Parts: sequence; structure tokens; C-alpha cells
Amino acid sequence: MNVHESEKIAGILMSRGLTECNDGEPDVVVFNTCCIRDNAERKAIGQIGRFKQLKKSNPDAVIAVVGCMTQQDGAGFALRRKFPFIDIVLGTSNIEKIGEYVSDALSSRTCRVEIDDDPRPAIVEGVPYHRSSGCNAWINIMYGCNNFCSYCIVPYVRGRERSRAKEDVLAEFEKALSDGYKEVTLLGQNVNSYGNDRGDGYGFASLLEDLAKYKGDHRIRFMTSHPKDMDDRVIDIIADSPNICNNIHLPLQSGSDRILKLMNRHYTRDDYLAIIEKIRAKMPDCGITTDLMVGFPYEDENDFEDTLDMVRRVEWSNAFTFVYSPRRGTPAATMPQVPAEVSKRRIMKLIAEQNSVTRRLSDAYVGNVYKVLCEDAVDKNGKLTLCGRTESGRMVNFNGDPKLVGSFCDVKVTRSQSASLFGTRI
Ligand code: SAH
Ligand code: SF4
Repeated sequence: MNVHESEKIAGILMSRGLTECNDGEPDVVVFNTCCIRDNAERKAIGQIGRFKQLKKSNPDAVIAVVGCMTQQDGAGFALRRKFPFIDIVLGTSNIEKIGEYVSDALSSRTCRVEIDDDPRPAIVEGVPYHRSSGCNAWINIMYGCNNFCSYCIVPYVRGRERSRAKEDVLAEFEKALSDGYKEVTLLGQNVNSYGNDRGDGYGFASLLEDLAKYKGDHRIRFMTSHPKDMDDRVIDIIADSPNICNNIHLPLQSGSDRILKLMNRHYTRDDYLAIIEKIRAKMPDCGITTDLMVGFPYEDENDFEDTLDMVRRVEWSNAFTFVYSPRRGTPAATMPQVPAEVSKRRIMKLIAEQNSVTRRLSDAYVGNVYKVLCEDAVDKNGKLTLCGRTESGRMVNFNGDPKLVGSFCDVKVTRSQSASLFGTRI
């Protein structure tokens, strides 16, 4: 989400004549911050601090801080107090002003802090993007979140769910294809509830159905799906549409029903397993990934064992694992906290468990041929190696001409090494 938002910021600034600064000292620096966990915030603060020096050597440089971190209670002004050299602080719904305010700061040193707290800011269409994610085009289908999972800051800093009009999404999709993008990834905090706020009966399944009608050599991915809103029609459409990847990111968070309830997730482990069964019945080769958290308040050894048990049962192709991080203003932050050393031990164990599943699943790829979208050519030990993903979302490394970047290749997987797959083009 933030990577794509940064593409928007770059697009707005470039439309005003600014260019990317690949070396030397920049005249304008924009920090797009995240506050989902404490370490994201600390990273941002560390990076902003480093630019005090730039301001000393180039007092005319403009420094802006935008994104989720600024939207927390009192954070915008606190940032300027801590770093008086910041020129512009913008809240998440003020981002479209970045061009105008950077221009003002460059010409007349005007400083601005603008943070609206309207939970339903209007969606601004027609903003230019400077896409920088290779052959993949990110497309937001909605903004914000209504779910208020008890640990999560997103609804507080990104407001309530607002879905883009179907016409706007389809137009952006068509433009991405005509610009030559081979992969489109639809973005939303909970894509399965797309359209609910518009009340016209046109939901995520309808959108997928319409997008699937576009013929051609391209792929569609989407994230994130919330298990409470994953319906059978969506699963059927994915299974029946060759251009929609058999790849679903379905965060579980915890394998314990008691913890899921405390998290306000609105499903049980059995509900989750039933969805997995339906997906696998229709798409046995579907790559299913998840997000898991350890150390949520009240989590005891039995709860944690339930999460490990789900790792073994579901066999996700990959899991993003996190230690719970208390976020100010969320309900879970005031619950009794699990000691850091307990969370640390649990995360290590969780990662080891998932790694052994990933290794086993990787082995199953060996010997088979997959259609891979070549995404990049990277230098590995002095040798250029191509890499790209299978439909199921697994990254494969293979040899070939860097000119193949951006095209589909048939690759036979010859070897696996934990999460990495290696193959040859056939
Ligand atoms: N909308 C998506 C996820 C958005 S945040 C969903 O509902 O699944 C991405 C992931 O960050 C979450 O799935 C969760 O696992 C993790 N996360 C969110 N808040 C967190 C917190 N306070 N501490 C640790 N991890 C957190
Ligand atoms: Fe956060 Fe839950 Fe919304 Fe995901 S669904 S963004 S975890 S509140």
C-alpha cells in the first residue's frame, strides 16, 4: 500500500517538473511513513534524523513527512518539535496537496502541517502515478478499513472503508494493460468487502468477474482477503478465470479461537479451515499465504500451540510472522502484555515451523514446469540471474537474457533451497 502511495507522491511531484535524484544531494525529500508496528516508526524516525545534515549543507532543501505516522494523535506537531528542520507534514488524506506545498516551500520557504481527521475523506481521482514496480501495476480498489481488529492502528490512521467507483478501477486497469503492464495487483485492506460502502450490490466478486473478461497475456493478483468476508463466489471466479492467479493471501493472525475473539477477527479456526478446504477443492495448486502474530495480550502456551498446529494443518506456502506491537489508542494496548522474551521465543519457534513447511512444499515444485512472469534480472555472486513468480506466487531464479524481463517464460524447476526455487527456461 505504501509503496503504491509513494508512486503517487512521485507522480504528483514529477508532474510539477521535479525529477528523481539518483546521486548527489536531493532538493526535496519526502518520507512516506508507516506505523503498523513500533519498529516501522522507529525506522522512519531514524531516517528522518539522518537528514538534519542535508538541511545544514543545503538549507534550501525541502523535507516533507507524510503517511500513517503523521495521522496519530498529536504526531504531526510532535514530529516538527523533534525535527524542526521538517518543512511539511501531511496527513493521510491530505497527500494530494504534496505538489502544491512542495512548490510553495521551494519558492517561498512556506512551512505547513496539515492533518485532517475526517474518517471518510473523498477519494481523489485522476492523480498521476509514477509506477516503479517493474511489470506489476498496483491498483487501489478501496481505501481505509472498518474492521477495528483490536491490535491494529490502520482504521485510526486511514479512516473508514471507501471503495472506488467500478468505472475508475476498470479505466485504470485498462490503462495499465495498454501501458504494457503484465501483472496488476488490486489493493485494499479487506478487498472482499469492496463495494459494501457504495450500496449498489456491485462487490468484489462482480469486480473480479469484470476484470477477468479482459483477454490477453497478463495476470491479476489481489490483497488482502479477510477470512470473515471470503465468499464462495470469489473462490469460484478465481478458479474459473485463467488470468486471475491461483494465489490468495488470507491472514489468520492466530490459531487460537480465544485469541481470535480478543483480536475481534470474527471467525474461528474451523471457519478458516473450511475456507482452505473450499479453496483447495477448486484449486489444488493455489498458493495460500498468511500473516501470523505471536505475543498478543493473554496469549499462553496453549494458544501458541494452536497457532503452530495451524501451520502444520494448513501448510501455507509462506507466512509473514510478526511479534505483536502495542499501538497507542487501540484496545489491545491496554490489555495485559506478554513479556518480550516469551514473544521472542515464540516467534523463533513459529518461523522454524513454517520454514520446515515451506521447505517441504518447495521440494514438490522440483521437476515441474511453470509459467513464470520474469520480473527482474539481479546480480547474484557476479552473475546476472532472472527471477519471477509462478502463478501461485513462488519466486523462481533462472538463467536467461535480461531482455526477458517483463515477459512470461516456461521454467522447469530443477532445485529448491528452503524458500528459493531454481530452474531452467525450456
Ligand atoms: N488488512 C490486512 C492486514 C494489514 S496489516 C488484514 O486484515 O489482514 C498487515 C499485518 O500486520 C496484519 O495482518 C497483522 O498480522 C500485522 N499487524 C497489524 N497490527 C499489528 C500490531 N499491532 N503488531 C504486530 N503486527 C501487526
Ligand atoms: Fe487492521 Fe484488521 Fe483492518 Fe487488517 S482488517 S487493516 S488487521 S483492522
